[in-house]
Formats: sequence, structure tokens, C-alpha cells
Amino acid sequence: MTGNEIREKFLKFFENKGHTIIASSSLVPHDDPTLLFTNAGMNQFKEVFLGLDRRPYKRATTSQKCVRAGGKHNDLDTVGRTARHHTFFEMLGNFSFGDYFKREAITYAWQFLTEELGLPKDRLYATVYRDDEEAAQLWQEIAGLPPERVIRLGEKDNFWSMGDTGPCGPCSEVLIDRGEEFKCAADNCAIGACDCDRWLEIWNLVFMQYNRDESGEMTPLPKPSIDTGMGLERIASVMQKVNSNFDTDLFKPIMAKVEELSGSVYYQDERGFPFRVIADHARACTFLISDGVLPSNEGRGYVLRRILRRAVRFGKVLGIEKPFLYQMVGVVADLMGDAYPEIREKQTYVEQVIKIEEERFHETLHEGMRLVSDIVEKVKAEGRQSISGQEAFLLYDTYGFPLDLTEDIAEEHGLTVDKDGFAAAMEEQRTRARAARQDEAMLAGQELYAEVGQKLGATEFTGYSELETRANV
Ligand code: ATP
Ligand code: MG
Ligand code: MG
Ligand code: MG
Repeated sequence: MTGNEIREKFLKFFENKGHTIIASSSLVPHDDPTLLFTNAGMNQFKEVFLGLDRRPYKRATTSQKCVRAGGKHNDLDTVGRTARHHTFFEMLGNFSFGDYFKREAITYAWQFLTEELGLPKDRLYATVYRDDEEAAQLWQEIAGLPPERVIRLGEKDNFWSMGDTGPCGPCSEVLIDRGEEFKCAADNCAIGACDCDRWLEIWNLVFMQYNRDESGEMTPLPKPSIDTGMGLERIASVMQKVNSNFDTDLFKPIMAKVEELSGSVYYQDERGFPFRVIADHARACTFLISDGVLPSNEGRGYVLRRILRRAVRFGKVLGIEKPFLYQMVGVVADLMGDAYPEIREKQTYVEQVIKIEEERFHETLHEGMRLVSDIVEKVKAEGRQSISGQEAFLLYDTYGFPLDLTEDIAEEHGLTVDKDGFAAAMEEQRTRARAARQDEAMLAGQELYAEVGQKLGATEFTGYSELETRANV
């Protein structure tokens, strides 16, 4: 079953259960300053859950574009290291706005997984929030799961919130045992105890019940609701019986393009890390730019810039010395353009934006890498374990190396980066810049006074001393 077929099947299944199919919302949250990028299917329904907005339907289903590269949900560092994390991914979801609750949510999920997709029941597990007796009972009753396959976990895994504030609630997840061969090195490799690829979390059913405010206080929502999310790439890896999301049909052509552009072969082990990062970041950049984000030095634009430059640097690791990332946009558009027409429509524009940013970064990348080598050598010669904040800041300020890029390089040499020192250096520069701006403003003010004074033919001009006095106060 292809990724596109799974997406279709999911939406149809829930449509048949009375859900209205709603298009994915933009990755740039509409009018929500609490959120960097759309990080879950429920975001576009936040106000509906809160009872502040009404829709003509009580059940909805979506395939939502998500980016988790900042804020509460941030997987940027994890990408390429696990088989299951991306910065950009698709979340399949079904929603009930004060309509059905736990029983139906569990029934639908179980039906979809075991009947529609035909997954083996004996490899599926459920987790519930520690004291959610009701959900634990329902899993046993509806799915026939024995009590030992229903695992109770705490806040970290089984209480879902979209951010520090907003709708939240206890949740229940479905995991699949991918088999002994995925077992991690931990002595106690088990659900809740380790975080490896063996126990693959595929679907989260959130029982939306509260709204958390700035002070952390939780008030009940007008009506208990359902919000679910299943990662399309993950379920595709299960259905296609491959080891990793990056080996599914949703990624294969993108990986092949990285191979073509770099002239090297992709391996599924650590050697393939740069390939996976580049493939992931190519998708993220394509979708973010299509949704109107542009590389910049702050906010959303800076997250995009970091992702883009990181991909470019990993391209260099693979021996690609010229702009290349823009050439991957077409592959992404061909692969996903039916489901998300905007990336096909904006393909040329996205290519241009990426190419310009790549060219710009290439101007300093080469020199920057030379400086990095010197720094690494110096750090090692001095017996230090980490690149200092000042050194990382120099790379940032002069060569446009975002901090996480320097961290990647440091890691490749078995070193770390003094992040606090970097932040301090950044703050120092901000203070200097502020002071410089004030000086400039003052000079401009002085000129203006001088001009005015001349025009008025004043013989005595007191502007400077007045300004000085004021500045000294
Ligand atoms: P994990 O514990 O694996 O990081 P999560 O608990 O953070 O996942 P949820 O917030 O519960 O994820 O999101 C719902 C579903 O979305 C997950 O069950 C998973 O299938 C999918 N998902 C979450 N994060 C990612 C990601 N970074 N890349 C791909 N799929 C993801
Ligand atoms: Mg996570
Ligand atoms: Mg989880
Ligand atoms: Mg989860």
C-alpha cells in the first residue's frame, strides 16, 4: 500500500463514519502567536475545542502538514538518527467536537488498524494515562487486549498539550512491536522505559478535556472532545514492511535524488545520516516556503534558514560543492503535489527562494569551514572538550553558521559547543548594536539641530550640549 493510498483510505474510512474531510491548514498558524509552526492536526480546530468557534460539522478528518522544529514539539535534532522522526511530516487525524468520546475513538482506531490495514493484533499495544481506568477497560473490551498489553504511563507520554497553553488532555496511544531485531541496547527495552525504534508509536488518541492558561491552571472544556494523530510516514513504514520511514515510497525518490546529486550510495546505517537529513529538510523547506515563510534572521524565517543551511552543509559533507537543494523541490512536488497542490503551483518560486539562499550561504560556507577546521584543531590542541561561545558566535556572525550547524560539526569531532557562552556573546552584540543605534540617532539629531540652527541664523546653538546633558542623565 503506497503512502498516498493510506492517506486516501484513512480519510475515506472516517468520511464513512460521518466525518467531514477538511483540507490541511497552512504550516503558518493563523492568528496564533503561541505557536511557531503547525505541529498537529488539531491546531486548526483549537478555537472549536475551546468553544470559541463553531463549525457546521461535529466530526472532521484531515491529513495535516506539520513541522516540529521549535517550541514545545521540536524534533530537529532527532531527524536522521531515529527511523521515525521528521521535521516535516503528515499527520492523519479524526476529530470529534463534543460528539463522540473515548469509546468510539478507540473503536474506530482499532477497526482501521486491524480491519482496513490488516495489522496483526498480537503485535499491537496500547498505552493509557496512569489513572485512566476507563480507557484501559475499553482497550480490553473493544480490542480484546490482555491487561499486560495495556500500559499505564505518566504525563510525559500520555498527557498531550499543543503548547504551554491551550487545549490538552490525557491520551492513549497505539504502538506496534517491530520485532526483536529493532531492540535497543537498554537492559530494559520496553514501552515507556526506552525510546527506541522497536516500540513504534503510531497513533495518539487525545481525550481533549482541558484548557491550560498562562498560569498553568486547567479548566474543563465546554465539551469533552476527541483529537487523534497518526504519522503517515510511520504507518507507511509498517505497511510496507521497511525498516524506516526513509525507506517508504514517500521518501524513496527523494533519497534517490540525493544519491544522484551527490554521486554516492545511501546506506541505512549511520553512514546514511546526511542523506536522511537532506531528504527531510528538502521536504520541510519546500512546504514552509510554499506556505509563505522566507529565510530571515528571526522567528519562523530563522528556523527555515537554519533547516536550509543545515541541509546545505550536509550536502558539503557528501561532497556537493554547489547549490543543489533547490533541485530537490521538483521531486517533492511530483511525489506530494496531488495531495498538496500548493507545492506544485509554487514549485518555481520555491526553487528560486532556495537557490538564492543556497548561493548566499555558499559565499561564506567555504571560508567558514576553513575557520571551523582551525577552531577544532585549536580546541583539541588545548585539550578542551568544547568550542567556546565566542568561537561559535564568530562563525555565526561572520559566516552565517546557525548554532545547530556548528553543533553538528562539533559532534562530528567528538566535541560540544558552549551554548550559554554563545547566548551571552549574542546578547553582548545586541547590547552593542543597541548602543550604536542610539549613537547614530543622536548624531542624526545633532545634524538636524545644526541645520535648523543655520536656517534660523542662530548665533548661539546649544543643541550639542543640551543633547549631551540629556544623554548623560
Ligand atoms: P514520539 O514520542 O515518537 O516523538 P510524539 O508522542 O511526540 O511522538 P504525538 O505528539 O503524539 O507524537 O503526535 C501524534 C503522532 O504523530 C505520533 O504518534 C506519530 O505517529 C506522529 N509523529 C509525531 N512526531 C513525529 C515526527 N517528528 N515525525 C514523524 N511523525 C511524527
Ligand atoms: Mg515527539
Ligand atoms: Mg510519544
Ligand atoms: Mg505521542
